[in-house]
Amino acid sequence: MVERCSIRHLRDLITASSDGVDPQSIEKGLNRIDKDGDGFIDRSELKNEHGKLVCTTLSDSWSFPTLLRFKEALEYLGMASAQDAFCGIRLEENEHFVPGEVMDSLFKAFDSQPKVGGAGGVFLEANFLMQDKVRTNFISSLRSKKFDRVQIYKYLRIFSQPGTLLVVEDDSLGQIKEYFSHERFHRELKKLSPENYDFMMEVAKKLKKIRLPLTPAEKAITDRTFDNLRKQYGDKAEEVREHLDAKRLFSDVIHRSGPEEVYAHTATNPKYKHVEPYIQKTSPKAYALYEKIKARVLDLENYDSNLPPVTLDNG
Ligand SMILES: [Zn+2]
Repeated sequence: MVERCSIRHLRDLITASSDGVDPQSIEKGLNRIDKDGDGFIDRSELKNEHGKLVCTTLSDSWSFPTLLRFKEALEYLGMASAQDAFCGIRLEENEHFVPGEVMDSLFKAFDSQPKVGGAGGVFLEANFLMQDKVRTNFISSLRSKKFDRVQIYKYLRIFSQPGTLLVVEDDSLGQIKEYFSHERFHRELKKLSPENYDFMMEVAKKLKKIRLPLTPAEKAITDRTFDNLRKQYGDKAEEVREHLDAKRLFSDVIHRSGPEEVYAHTATNPKYKHVEPYIQKTSPKAYALYEKIKARVLDLENYDSNLPPVTLDNG
């Protein structure tokens, strides 16, 4: 079963079925539907009665025709919240869902080389669109995707705000949760005092140097590789022997990324849970700060970006 976030689906079905809808229900269920721009959900648009953004779990196995009426969608939301089948991500003022193709345009604007895969989220610590080349690239990329002037202006305005956090709306629910926690982790790191920030980055660099012993299966493979190298290069193969005898703590992708990724991925991606003891062993202080940020960003419903930076003394 494919788990999908319904933000896009709900918008589609609500837009497609707004005839004959009780205005009171609209008012109650949704504050506002975005009329002037397709593909953008403002933070105020999909809220449940507690004022939290509702992101329901719908899957392809649901029959969409049965949900193609607004009231039914609302009922569905109510039911979903009761059954804990939704994620309540409370969006901050400067956090937005965007379509994946808009996110792709943003990344292409930074770098004209085509990217493999796409980014799920980004934290914009500065106004990168201030750079003429980036802005021009961004606009022409959106134009090529048939976004109109109003929509393009809207994205320019939002993406120009330093501190903006963007997450793609059309990915799986589990992924969306991870994107939010991950990008919020970056935001919390950037908030640290300069001393604590630099300290964390130094520890991250040390962590990247850690190598782990191989499992017997991995060892068998690298032994074969080494034998082949030895046949080809003779004694010279010894020079790479140590690289074959151990593996890095992180994947190549994280290894090539900035030091912040070490923490952001470890905190939010279950694949890197095994890294935590290494942080603790390398630096109890870094681990304490890491744990405090992690507790903040994994609490998707209560996260508050206005809290002061974490220190060793606060949470
Ligand atoms: Zn990241």
